[in-house]
Amino acid sequence: METRYIFVTGGVVSSLGKGIISSSIARLLLSRGFNVTIQKFDPYINIDPGTLNPYEHGECYVTVDGHEADLDLGHYERFTNIKTTRANNITTGRVYQSVIDKERRGDYLGKTVQIIPHITDEIKRNVKLLGSTGKYDFVITEIGGTVGDIESLPFLEAVRQLKWEMGNRCACVHLTYVPFIRAAKELKTKPTQHSVKQLQQAGIQPDVLVLRTEQIIPPAMCRKVALFCNVSPDAVVQSVDAPTIYEVPLMMHEQGLDKIILDKTNTPYQGEPDLAKWNKFLDHMRGAKESVKIGLVGKYVELQDAYKSIDESLLQACTYHDHKLDLRYIGAERLTDGNVEEQLRDLDGVIVAPGFGQRGTEGKYVALKWCREHDMPTFGICLGMQCMVIEFARNVLGMHEANSIEMDPHTPYNVIDLMEEQKSITNMGGTMRLGAYACHLREGSKVAKAYGKLDIEERHRHRFEFNDDFRAQFEAAGMQCVGENPGTKLVEVVELPDKKWYIGTQYHPEYSSTVLSPHPLFMDFIRAAIENKNTK
Ligand code: GLN
Repeated sequence: METRYIFVTGGVVSSLGKGIISSSIARLLLSRGFNVTIQKFDPYINIDPGTLNPYEHGECYVTVDGHEADLDLGHYERFTNIKTTRANNITTGRVYQSVIDKERRGDYLGKTVQIIPHITDEIKRNVKLLGSTGKYDFVITEIGGTVGDIESLPFLEAVRQLKWEMGNRCACVHLTYVPFIRAAKELKTKPTQHSVKQLQQAGIQPDVLVLRTEQIIPPAMCRKVALFCNVSPDAVVQSVDAPTIYEVPLMMHEQGLDKIILDKTNTPYQGEPDLAKWNKFLDHMRGAKESVKIGLVGKYVELQDAYKSIDESLLQACTYHDHKLDLRYIGAERLTDGNVEEQLRDLDGVIVAPGFGQRGTEGKYVALKWCREHDMPTFGICLGMQCMVIEFARNVLGMHEANSIEMDPHTPYNVIDLMEEQKSITNMGGTMRLGAYACHLREGSKVAKAYGKLDIEERHRHRFEFNDDFRAQFEAAGMQCVGENPGTKLVEVVELPDKKWYIGTQYHPEYSSTVLSPHPLFMDFIRAAIENKNTK
């Protein structure tokens, strides 16, 4: 089948959940047996979001091939089990970089290089890149930002041209917001009408409208939107606030969104999507009565997107253990020896978050000391693992000034150190140890039991590493290095075998936990937390 292209645009306001709608469409098409891929185009000038802090853009996700990506790629993977790559996430910066490189090489010799056609052609080339591999029936492209933004214009122009060139092999799904005005007790469709007008001004007629709303929109109002926006009435669907994002594919299917897209793109199909496994996951979720309390110790307590993949991995693991997740963010900066007990005492398990820089690290050591001494199931991820190592060095090995050289370049006990090949690096963007690396686990270790195998591959995003010079001292005192890179021998996992569950991973398992394949380490951590709760 010739590849079909679906574009997902957004209007009125941002944060409506374009990523969730795009992922839901991908889930439904996959469940109908189509080959699907999904990509995000972001209109900002950064080459990738790796240099953005979480206040700007939430969590930075990492693909297997080592691309620092928008967090929507995390949703794509969690909904679809597709492994995305750097080809699935393009920014304005990448587009310009490539055009400017071509210009310098002389590829456009004699021509004036312009936004149209050169930038738009480069966007179109990228849209079609995955489609041209012949592997996919559908390429879903989410356009970041909101219709009407100056920076989105070249992307919309590229979509207009592609729709014109490919006709009904393309469909545009436009997501807008229908606010409920509380004082008037009314839903309002005017912002949607304006947003569609703006899209039409850019030359794009949306084929499907998804209306985000907090209250159910009556059918007559949907028909009115259809009439004003030149969209067929059956192609106006609504996305009401759901108890969980994982309900959205079902809500979209109930309103026929998958069929509408197949019809609009002239795609033959039969029957209904097979959503049995998806429904089973939701049945676990709906049936869960008991909850498990997990504390996430990190520095971004007030930002709900900063630890997105960890939150979702925990939720997936709890769900498969038929428990609700009761997640508490614990501000690392405010933790002291005086208040740690009251903050952690009631929890069933603790996660110490990844991160960069000094802020909050001293509080992480306080938390880890308390967890270690009180045998709390504890999971350290990346910086969290490095903090486990530093806390152990300080309080068990008696190296009181132990540190990572990221925090203290002059520490006499550099238990976390910079890799040799990192020492000459001056550029910050894309230069960490990134992407999937192999790891060999020690037979008989807790971590090997959790995975049920000895050879694994996990994604990394860090510059600093466990310093091998100290390995023997740690092992003699009880902290075991139970996972290492088979080639470089870098330490990837540490654990305290005599504790209920005290494991730190230099890699990020949270990037590869999905709804249909929850991550074994999160599954085992939650198992231990539930056991801890039940034996208290
Ligand atoms: N800052 C640490 C490093 O660069 C850990 C990074 C992380 O937690 N992702 O090594």
